[in-house]
Amino acid sequence: MSSASIVTFEEARHTVEQHAAKVAPGEVERVDLLAAAGRVLAEPIVADRDFPPFPRATRDGYAVRAADVEQVPKRLELVGEIRAGDWPEPGTCTVGVGQTVSIMTGAPLPAGADAVVMVEYTAVAGKSVDIQRSVQRGENFVPRGAEARQGHLLVDRGTRLDHAAIAIAASAGTSTLPVFRKPRVAVLSTGDEVVEIGATPGPAQIRNSNTYSLAAQIEHAGGEAIRLPIAPDEPVRLRALIEEGLTCDLLLLTGGVSMGKYDLVEQVLTERKAEFYFTGAKIQPGKPIVFGSCGAGIPARVLAANPQLARAEMPAPHKKYFFGLPGNPVSTMVTFRLFAQSMIAALAGMKPQPLIFLKARLKSKIRTKTGLRRFLPAVLSGEFENVEVELAAWQGSGDIAALARANCFLVIPPDREQIAAGEWVSLLTA
Ligand code: AMP
Ligand code: MG
Repeated sequence: MSSASIVTFEEARHTVEQHAAKVAPGEVERVDLLAAAGRVLAEPIVADRDFPPFPRATRDGYAVRAADVEQVPKRLELVGEIRAGDWPEPGTCTVGVGQTVSIMTGAPLPAGADAVVMVEYTAVAGKSVDIQRSVQRGENFVPRGAEARQGHLLVDRGTRLDHAAIAIAASAGTSTLPVFRKPRVAVLSTGDEVVEIGATPGPAQIRNSNTYSLAAQIEHAGGEAIRLPIAPDEPVRLRALIEEGLTCDLLLLTGGVSMGKYDLVEQVLTERKAEFYFTGAKIQPGKPIVFGSCGAGIPARVLAANPQLARAEMPAPHKKYFFGLPGNPVSTMVTFRLFAQSMIAALAGMKPQPLIFLKARLKSKIRTKTGLRRFLPAVLSGEFENVEVELAAWQGSGDIAALARANCFLVIPPDREQIAAGEWVSLLTA
């Protein structure tokens, strides 16, 4: 193994962010509007016209001159009606002094008017309307172009498209959108004790769950998961599978990084001239997390024909990042959330995504040891603004069932030995 470096959580996170800032997303493809949900926008969406394209009433009521209704009640002459979708001929529907026009939500404000009085504060009397409440100029309508001027930015490149962004694209008349190809993220699980889920495990064997949790997390993060076969604790086969994984945009290894005699991952990567940015972080779970890079993988058939390529240095653009995630299933999921997710986001073309913690009140007191920042499975419960969080009962980093019962991680700073019930604590969404 190359020189080990155990860093703090913040150092580890910032190291990943610095490298993530340097990666480039894949090619651009055009997809149908609805297929773009969850994808990352490759070109900005700009306003095809002013938003709104006319001063748009936001209430049903009466378009008025605010100065006319400074003193109320006030009787105004009713000179017309504008419904949503109406576009009166110029000059045919103007609000003069002492006049008003009936208007519906979404309809264009007529010339002369500078406010809308809500229908609730009016009473119709034949050809007149009695206004019972004053309004300020500008009240109850949105001026033309107030949301965006024609040609201006609506949604920026690098935005992961959610339902609001899809709505904006639709309102700008866009039926297809340019998005970045999803990054291909290889997942390689290692360990002689790990068997595929279809197999009957021997008495000391366990089924592979990490490849599946990671695949689900990768898809959720905006990537495409490529699940490789399980690698045994044997260097030749492990080496070949790592090579294959390094042909993808990112490689996630799980297991084999915790310094056991048969934990060969770092050894194989070192032989492949990998650069390690850190080989551990002061966190729990997930202390044996490894982050590094090395030359791009060589596809198996190319390598078979040119074995000398295996030792060649790869030029920088072909550098591939990898994470060695600990094999313990909870550690795997936590370290993905803390570190790998932001690299996938960057490879997917997203703008930098800082990790944010939310706050909630602690339900029952916590005792722990100092020295590590902890991200422990926890349950957030309550309703509306009355929310509490407490640790989920768990048996340690192998307890996937505890994680499945949890809905967040409680973040315990490395200097806290006790936290009292009722204190505000940080949490990370799952
Ligand atoms: P390791 O990091 O290889 O020392 O593994 C730590 C623990 O995680 C061991 O108990 C392994 O059996 C378990 N483990 C490793 N890989 C997987 C996997 N793919 N699925 C579930 N558990 C695993
Ligand atoms: Mg192992």
